[in-house]
Amino acid sequence: MALLRTLFALSDDFEGAFVSGATQANLAALATARQWALQQSGHDVSEEGLWNAPRIPVLAGTPHASILKSLSILGMGRQSVEYIPSLPGRQAVDPSALAQRLVANDGKPAIVVASAGEVNTGDFDDLEALGELCRTYGAWLHVDGAFGLFAACDPAHAHLLRGLNAADSITTDGHKWLNVPYDSGIVFTRHITLQEQVFKAAAAYLGAGPDLLHRTPENSRRFRALPAWMTLMAYGRAGYQELVARSCRLAQQLGQHIEQSARFELLSPVHLNIVCFTLAEADTAQRDRFLALLQRDGQVLLTPTLFAGKPAIRAAFVNWSTTEQDVERVIAALERCVREIKL
Ligand SMILES: *Cc1c(COP(=O)(O)O)cnc(C)c1O
Repeated sequence: MALLRTLFALSDDFEGAFVSGATQANLAALATARQWALQQSGHDVSEEGLWNAPRIPVLAGTPHASILKSLSILGMGRQSVEYIPSLPGRQAVDPSALAQRLVANDGKPAIVVASAGEVNTGDFDDLEALGELCRTYGAWLHVDGAFGLFAACDPAHAHLLRGLNAADSITTDGHKWLNVPYDSGIVFTRHITLQEQVFKAAAAYLGAGPDLLHRTPENSRRFRALPAWMTLMAYGRAGYQELVARSCRLAQQLGQHIEQSARFELLSPVHLNIVCFTLAEADTAQRDRFLALLQRDGQVLLTPTLFAGKPAIRAAFVNWSTTEQDVERVIAALERCVREIKL
């Protein structure tokens, strides 16, 4: 964890634990945030449950689907999310809109969920501004940085995470940009006592003392730290700086092609490693046909999404082996396939 803290430039007061992925990390973080929020009204949810507990607003701009899933599991409900308007042309919360909402909340506990790397566009919430608001109005700040936390590795992008250390909890994934196999997420917290109140599994046979089984939903678990440790030993900070910088450069390369092509439309500036685009004037069926064709033709896997209600396509660059030649191949396949569906 010390290695990962260094990689992400996190302060020493963050404790980390491995979980199965960012979804589970978001769940663990939000469970801890819920513990905190209800404690403000004298309620120990880990002991008493949610019966008669007050509702806790969860304020977010463009939360990942796993945030909603977590809220469902936690008994807070997907509807506890209140969507805060984004800045014009961005997928980042308008801090003044959040301020207004927090003022109206009148000092009652609230949970703010920020995106550090929004899944469609790679956009970042202004963590410095959001952290300041949370401090002023007494809200919990959770940062979902499943892939975006790796911006910290590259000096050219590290500014996107300014203010990160004011977060109460942070999520990231190892099985995205760290390039370890699936089943690797990490939850960081500055409130380990609260997290252990939620996840403690006291039983005589388990023994006493500090143990990670009191920190996450799991008791038995595999040795997730091993592949993470090995890759960090093998490539180090310099290796991840190179990988992150290269992924972002390749995303720019694809983004520039899309922007210049009349057959495609770039839907968002490339903020980090994600290119969000669509076919010029296509409906969902045409987009899906295009993606299927692309996968068959060029063995290129791009994922469908919806962006501002439009059928869209996203390309996310995280793999250690991707090169400029691969992007050239993707571009050639895109052009071949778009001609084939005769737009
Ligand atoms: C991928 C992702 C998740 C979910 O991660 P899993 O590892 O699939 O559980 C959550 N948030 C963001 C922003 C993501 O990109």
